[in-house]
Amino acid sequence: MGLYLSKSRFCSAVQCPKMLWLKQNKPEEFDDEVMDQNVLNRGSMVGDLAMGLFGPYVEVPFGDLKEMLRETDRLLEAGTPIIAEASFSVDSNFCSVDILKNHGNGRVEIYEVKSSTSISDIYLYDAGYQYYVLDRCGYTVEKVCLVTIDNTYVRHGDLELSKLFAVTDVTSEILEKQVEISEYIDMLREYMEQTDEPQRDIGAHCFAPYSCGFFAYCTRDWPHPNIFDIASLQNRSRFKLMDKGIRSFEEVEISNAVNDKCMLQVQHELHDLPDQINEEGIRAFMDTLSYPLYFLDFESFQPAVPLYDNSSPYEQIVFQYSLHYIPEEGGELYHREFLAYPGEDPRRAVAEHLCMDIPRNVCVLAYNMGFEKGRIAALARLYPDLEEHLMNIHGNIKDLMVPFRSKDYYNRAMQGSYSIKYVLPALFPDDPTLDYHNLEGVHNGAEASAVFEAMMEMEPSQLEEYRGHLLRYCELDTYAMVKVWESLMNIG
Ligand code: SF4
Repeated sequence: MGLYLSKSRFCSAVQCPKMLWLKQNKPEEFDDEVMDQNVLNRGSMVGDLAMGLFGPYVEVPFGDLKEMLRETDRLLEAGTPIIAEASFSVDSNFCSVDILKNHGNGRVEIYEVKSSTSISDIYLYDAGYQYYVLDRCGYTVEKVCLVTIDNTYVRHGDLELSKLFAVTDVTSEILEKQVEISEYIDMLREYMEQTDEPQRDIGAHCFAPYSCGFFAYCTRDWPHPNIFDIASLQNRSRFKLMDKGIRSFEEVEISNAVNDKCMLQVQHELHDLPDQINEEGIRAFMDTLSYPLYFLDFESFQPAVPLYDNSSPYEQIVFQYSLHYIPEEGGELYHREFLAYPGEDPRRAVAEHLCMDIPRNVCVLAYNMGFEKGRIAALARLYPDLEEHLMNIHGNIKDLMVPFRSKDYYNRAMQGSYSIKYVLPALFPDDPTLDYHNLEGVHNGAEASAVFEAMMEMEPSQLEEYRGHLLRYCELDTYAMVKVWESLMNIG
């Protein structure tokens, strides 16, 4: 089968040529879960915004390829100075250039837009492939630049595209890659002619620069569970084990080549060991807590393009919290919550409501507290009039994750993880009220962020429906913490 190469297919092949072969020959084996829709949406939103970086432009409409090529020719001949999505094809190699500066007489500049804040090597191949195509089409490419997000930008008033985007001239780097790119394309054409599935071992290339959706397929003959199921093992260590021929949990146990925390998971899985409970350790943690006791959880989103004054690209913006609290020992459980309406900066309202809902000098539990503490400190910096109260809350936060991270409590169902999404079903396997799958609309933090962003475009009735989903999701987060705390109380 002939190979028609686009820039994204070329970049896939740079990561792993087998990935391209499988995309062409076994697309049904691709696991869509590796595609993060939030990231894709962000990329296209940033791309649209960047089109205006150099002033007025004309965009080649996406559609029929021949029509895109014709429209590009027409715009170039008409002397259009800035063209978005200008499209080119030569020898079955195709590319659309995010932003093309047209200086006339075949002299052009290529600007490749990325929603990232840094430059990775794969971007140089991406831009380098575009240079390859335009060069073979007969254009004189005078400059190739990468356009990335500058996360030091702080918005004040109208968005300033020239400050939001960082433009890096990578012409010399991509020129150095041209021989390699040309040879690689020739190699790929032969590679893709193979009818038998190519052999390629899994390795670091399966996860970088992007997670490959064929990983389950490429490891279909592996034993399960295997080293990729060991939660606290880095990929680097997994590949070292793989090099020694260690793949199954049985082989891990015999080799004794992992640390105690990893071995705990392996042995509980292999031998169905009873729960590990260090009562002393749990009691020591519980003794650090006091009444009134608060359970706090935030939800946030990270707009690539800052929406509010005094915010930066990708800043975590808290828009919601849930708070359960117990005033005194044996007392009732109460609940408070806050969820901003989309459209205005939620941070001031979050900070004010937090100060109203959480008194000074009370014990506050969060799960994986670094996130909550980081957000509260950021709010304190932003609002000096609330700083003292916010930092008092900050100073009184304790982490409910501690007994699980330290393995003072461990059971097999936690699968080596101490995330609450594993701890909760491990402690309450049969409680449907604690099962996130039974929620509607929002089941995890990523969905909560996406829903809040989507709410900005919703009609009022739909907006209220999704507010309900968000409120129930976040409430379950802190209710789950209460239940986890109760379990520890019964032990410690
Ligand atoms: S899982 Fe790894 S080896 Fe298999 S196609 Fe993807 S990158 Fe290549």
